[in-house]
Amino acid sequence: MKITSAEVIVTSPSRNFVTLKITTDEGITGLGDATLNGRELAVATYLKEHVTQLLINRDPHRIEDTWQFLYRSAYWRRGPVTMAAIAAVDMALWDIKGKAAGMPVYQLLGGASRTALRTYGHASGRDLPELFDSIRHHLEEGYKSIRVQTSVPGIKALYGVAAQAQATGERYDFEPAGRGAQPTEEDWDTRAYLRHIPTVFEAVRNEFGPELPLLHDGHHRMTPIQAAKLGKSLEPYDLFWLEDVTPAENQDSFRLIRQHTTTPLAVGEIFNTVFDFQTLIKEQLIDYVRAASTHFGGISPLKKVMDYAAQYQIKSGFHGPTDVSPVGLAAQTHVGLAIHNFGIQEYMEHSEKTNTVFEQSMTFTDGFLHPGDKPGLGVELNEEAAASFPYQQAYLPYNRLSDGTVHDW
Ligand SMILES: [Mg+2]
Repeated sequence: MKITSAEVIVTSPSRNFVTLKITTDEGITGLGDATLNGRELAVATYLKEHVTQLLINRDPHRIEDTWQFLYRSAYWRRGPVTMAAIAAVDMALWDIKGKAAGMPVYQLLGGASRTALRTYGHASGRDLPELFDSIRHHLEEGYKSIRVQTSVPGIKALYGVAAQAQATGERYDFEPAGRGAQPTEEDWDTRAYLRHIPTVFEAVRNEFGPELPLLHDGHHRMTPIQAAKLGKSLEPYDLFWLEDVTPAENQDSFRLIRQHTTTPLAVGEIFNTVFDFQTLIKEQLIDYVRAASTHFGGISPLKKVMDYAAQYQIKSGFHGPTDVSPVGLAAQTHVGLAIHNFGIQEYMEHSEKTNTVFEQSMTFTDGFLHPGDKPGLGVELNEEAAASFPYQQAYLPYNRLSDGTVHDW
């Protein structure tokens, strides 16, 4: 079998997605997700101008060889643009291999280690009554674990709170990236946040009891000592995990955080390679790997990092917001089903428009995801529907402190 074409499809059903479609001389096609939220066209261009022509006439079965060729031959390694492009090729080749074998990809990764994947959903509210309604809504939808995000008194707009409108007038329900020529500016006050969040978790525990697994995302906004303080102050509320407490480029900072708190820690959604996790895993400074198939170079490296993490009893918690396309989500559900050290899968349902463009075999039943048993990844692209949603420029918001300083969003 030989690759005969590789096309890049950019579509914007509710939000932008970049998809690579590889076709072989046997008529088998494979899909890969190359979506990099807010910088989508950089990856589309990287693929179109520098990668697709290199794939022609290659044997699509040689997944590892193609991955190493794209990673090493570029000379300039790593980074989100390069790794999202390599991820798309890797996923598309696994999709083709599965279709050629007549098997879902998880069978090629060792077969199912569980019946389905436990997920967590995103509950949020501007105040406690709205938050409680959102938690109840998610429980009714079947979710067994809940991420809790709320507004903070004194902060006007805040990441992860679905009910608030952005400057563009759109809501956060599906996507924080606002369409338009400029990113939306939001505000931030760490001290107000640190005072407020423990009171929210106390109220949620009082309302919903001790058993419900609760998660929270700090979205990289704290210093290490502030993160340590938050972890400590949330210990009475027994979180499933506390995520992204500090920008994790400095892996050493997690030593300080870890010394101060037994709240389980999750990080890694913006990481691109195993090297970003090296210290965190070998020193057991985290409990969950948040990498996403799309931004981590695809299925092959995701499986490898989880095998490395397994030696340290560290589990998966793959990044699964709606900017991971149905193709990227399918890729990580196949990995999650196969690995022994699966933890939990983040799941935000994609919009109806997105689901018309990407036809999926994946099911969500009673809070559990399953990738389905179609050969390959189980996602097909409706190209006619995709073409009816042209790209729209969009940016993630950014933060400023009250004195005008730019802060992590
Ligand atoms: Mg996060």
